[in-house]
Amino acid sequence: MEIKFIADSMLGKLAKWLRVLGYDTIYRTCYRPHAIDMFVNEGRILISRQRELAEKYENSIILHENKTVKQMSELRQAIELAPEQSKWFCRCLVCNSLLQDADENDALGNVPDYVFHQNIKGIRLCPSCGRYYWPGSHKTRMIKQLQNWGF
Ligand SMILES: [Zn+2]
Repeated sequence: MEIKFIADSMLGKLAKWLRVLGYDTIYRTCYRPHAIDMFVNEGRILISRQRELAEKYENSIILHENKTVKQMSELRQAIELAPEQSKWFCRCLVCNSLLQDADENDALGNVPDYVFHQNIKGIRLCPSCGRYYWPGSHKTRMIKQLQNWGF
């Protein structure tokens, strides 16, 4: 079964990294009452730094570390994460939607000119929030971090 997460409001950075890896990860800075119940009931694993919250759910993982780098290691001790590399960078880091290949004409004017000329094939679009993504130095740095984690 596909692993899906819901991250508590203290775990925004970790949630972003889980999205980088391709995991469907709900994250909000603030949850309405019962929103977490709903997401856990649909089969998501709650990851939380709040013991009281995590203890409410069987399907939860408590993290103790403060720093994202350590949180990821802690998470990997609790659950086996072996995402296929083909799934990396397929999700919007902001809203969790799956990215699509961008239409060339739409991308023009929405990404820096140098990106448009060098990486036209690599430009992707989030259909939900309209953000564009493209390969570049930030992506290279992120891949390094993923490799440091042992992915
Ligand atoms: Zn988006």
